[in-house]
This record gives sequence, structure tokens and C-alpha cells, in this order.
Amino acid sequence: MTGETNNARPQIVRLFGRRDSAEAWEIRDFLKRSVVEFEWVELTNDDDSQSVLGLATLTNVRLPVIEMPGGERLFGPSLREVAGRLGFVAKPKLRQYDVSIYGAGPAGLSAAVYAASEGLSTVLVERSAVGGQAGTTSMIENYMGFPQGINGADLAERARQQAVKFGVELLMMQEGVKSEFRENRIWTDLADGGTMVARANVCATGVEWRRLNLPNEDRLLGRGLYYGAGASEAPLCGGEDVFVVGGGNSAGQAVMHLAAHARSVTMLVRDTALAASMSRYLSERILSERNVRVRYDVEITGLEGDRSLARIEVTSRSTKASEWAPTPRLFVAIGGVPNTEWAADTSIIRDPGGYLITGPDLLQEGHTPGCWPLERMPYYLETSVPGSFAAGDVRHRSIKRVATAAGEGAMAIAFVHRYLEETA
Ligand SMILES: Cc1cc2nc3c(=O)[nH]c(=O)nc-3n(C[C@H](O)[C@H](O)[C@H](O)COP(=O)(O)OP(=O)(O)OC[C@H]3O[C@@H](n4cnc5c(N)ncnc54)[C@H](O)[C@@H]3O)c2cc1C
Repeated sequence: MTGETNNARPQIVRLFGRRDSAEAWEIRDFLKRSVVEFEWVELTNDDDSQSVLGLATLTNVRLPVIEMPGGERLFGPSLREVAGRLGFVAKPKLRQYDVSIYGAGPAGLSAAVYAASEGLSTVLVERSAVGGQAGTTSMIENYMGFPQGINGADLAERARQQAVKFGVELLMMQEGVKSEFRENRIWTDLADGGTMVARANVCATGVEWRRLNLPNEDRLLGRGLYYGAGASEAPLCGGEDVFVVGGGNSAGQAVMHLAAHARSVTMLVRDTALAASMSRYLSERILSERNVRVRYDVEITGLEGDRSLARIEVTSRSTKASEWAPTPRLFVAIGGVPNTEWAADTSIIRDPGGYLITGPDLLQEGHTPGCWPLERMPYYLETSVPGSFAAGDVRHRSIKRVATAAGEGAMAIAFVHRYLEETA
């Protein structure tokens, strides 16, 4: 990557790249989720290069190019480099914290706000953008206090500001990969090679999108194939016929968001009806939206495209009849799997799906599990390791809502206080 200064001095970030670039999509998605105002400029040929970038030709230019407020240009940057230039990447300041929180979705952000505002030295570690799944949502309509709804990234950004105001150290683009519990401390190896030490921790690492597991999936990711609600891509779908896979709330929100931009949105649902868990206001809107079509009892069985997605194979689950449908974009929202690989070598007990088991759910016939070392019972959100708590979607039998995740984050900190008093 090279940096260069442009005298034009744009006020906002500008991102230049080719339409089907997965690298450009990754940066667009990150900027959108991080509520960074930016302009996307599509480049197609040398004329664009000359007129937009001031470079004679696109040949040998490492795309995408990002231009920072102030004019500095980064050529072909990694996400970490972009985040670093925006001031989002920092090193831990302390050798040890009262509480370390992993994951800055609603649960982790809420835990951070309460921990820091109640005087605990707090570090919040997030491997990507702040906001988690909620940050990818164009409109959250059922979160108390926002009668008109609120954009998920905006809600997360408010929480981030609140947490930072109370003194939370936020380490973005940083990931906990392995943890060890000893001497009443949690020692976590970070992806960059560092180690984080804390007296207690809250795991709020949520879930990540379940994959289709189809050939060509990795190659087409970011090139017409996207996981989630497509918040950053929707405005680029003008005049297109796009598809969404999934029958739950996340898929429903993606459909409504995309329908405002695309020519048509086809929702592909495995079952014979929308998920019973889908909010009623959402299903009513989907079924009455002019440019939305819902197809039931179908699944995706193939993805094809050369440089980018060109067509998908849709197969009836009952008749097995299949057809290829042309489309430049497919959004996949078929549920998630918990981010708990870090717990694999610890005595933290997970359920068969990988979710962290906490509190009363740990008891077997009224008894604590063999690995539990204390006389007292685990607190409600405590895992099978004392002082290690779980909050939000990552927890066994969680409710999977923004409000419950935020509530559990706050509740986890109340238990952290009790635990720290015990071990003082
Ligand atoms: C498209 C969509 C629409 C939705 N709409 C609504 C809605 O309208 N109303 C509603 O109530 N709920 C909605 N939900 C559900 C809601 O967003 C989730 O229940 C909520 O975000 C869960 O919060 P969380 O903090 O537990 O986890 P997440 O939001 O999943 O956040 C987890 C965070 O942890 C990070 N992470 C993972 N592993 C690591 C690691 N090892 N180290 C560091 N960080 C890590 C992830 O990057 C992520 O940022 C929606 C979900 C989606 C996907």
C-alpha cells in the first residue's frame, strides 16, 4: 500500500473501485457499519481513471483506492489499514483490566457502558466493526424508545460513543482466539500475538452467518453473493432483480430494505410459510409489497458466475424440480452459528450447537457440573468457569433480540461486581 496526498481535500472518505470487487465490498460494508460517511465511486475504464483519480490508466493501479478526509490515498489497503487510518485501531493501555468484554454487538456494548460507568477498568475487544448483527440492520423497529425505528449502525455508534465517554478502551480489528483461566484471571491470546489479562470477562461474541455450503460460494462472496441484510449494497441494486434466502426476521428485513432500491426482490423460503418467529409487522409488509415475491418450499442448490454472480439454481424441496434464475445479487440470511471456537480448550461447557451454557442450565439433576470448583451455584449468566460470563446471542437459549442482548450485557456486569467482591 502506498499513501499519496491529493490537493482537492475531500471532506468525506471516498472509495474508488470496480463494481464486482470483493475487496471494495468489504471496505464499503465496514464503513457503513461504522457509520463513516463515504462516497462510493465506481471505476470502469481508463477515462474514469483519468477524470476521477487523475491517473492516466487503471492498469497496474491497486484497487480499491480509498481517499481519506484530507486527501491521503491508500491503494489496495487491507481492512485493518483502513480502520487504522480512521483511528479505530489501538493497543491495550493496561497490563490487566477488571473486566474484558469480547464482541461489540448490543450485548458487549451494553456491558461496556455499565462496567465503565460503574468504575471498572474495562476493555472491549471487537474483531470487526462495532454493532455486531444489529449494526448490519437497516431499521430496528422494536427497540424500546425509538417509535420510528432506528438504523442499527446508528444505534451502535451511539452506544460506542457512550462507552468511550465512560472510559472504555475499545480495541477494534482485534480478536480473542484462545483463552486460559488461571490464578483467578482470564488470559486471552489475541490474533495479533498479544495477550489480554482480566479478572473477569464477558463473552458477547454473538453468532455469524450460516453458510450455504455450495460450490463457488467462497469465490463469489462479495461479488454478488452477500451474507446478511445488505445494508451497504442495497443502494447499488437499482434496476436489478435480486434474491434473498431465508424465512426469518433477518431475511425479512433484508427484503424490505432491498425492495426500496431493486426492481424486484424474490424471497426464497425453505418452509411452506414465513418463520413463525418473524415479527407480524414485517411479514405483513413483505406480503403486501409490490415488487416482492415470496417463493416457498425451495432451496438454493447452485451458484454460477464468472467474475461475479450471474445465476442461481433454485430447487423445489418437494418435487426436486430445479431451474436456473439469472441474478446479479443474492443475499443469504439463514441463521447463525455461535462464535465460540475460542472456548474449545477450556472447561467452559457448550451445548451441541456450540452456544455457551450458563447459570441454571449448567445444573444436572440439581448439581453443578464436575468442573465447577465453588460451593456457590453459578450466577445466572455465568459459564462453567467462575468469573467468565456470557451475554446475548452466544448464550444457550438466548432470545436473539437487540433488547435482550443489551439487557443481558447490563446484567452480566452486575454479576461481575459480585464475582470481583468474592475474589478481592
Ligand atoms: C439482519 C438482522 C436484522 C435484525 N433485526 C432485529 C430487530 O429488528 N430487532 C431485534 O430485536 N433484533 C434484531 N436482530 C437480532 C439482533 O441483531 C441480535 O439478537 C443482536 O445483535 C445480538 O447481539 P449480540 O451482542 O449478542 O451479538 P452480535 O450482534 O452477533 O455481536 C457479536 C460481536 O462479536 C464480535 N466477535 C465475534 N467473535 C469475536 C472474537 N473472537 N473476538 C472479538 N469479537 C468477536 C462480532 O464481530 C460481533 O461484532 C437482527 C439480526 C440481523 C442479523
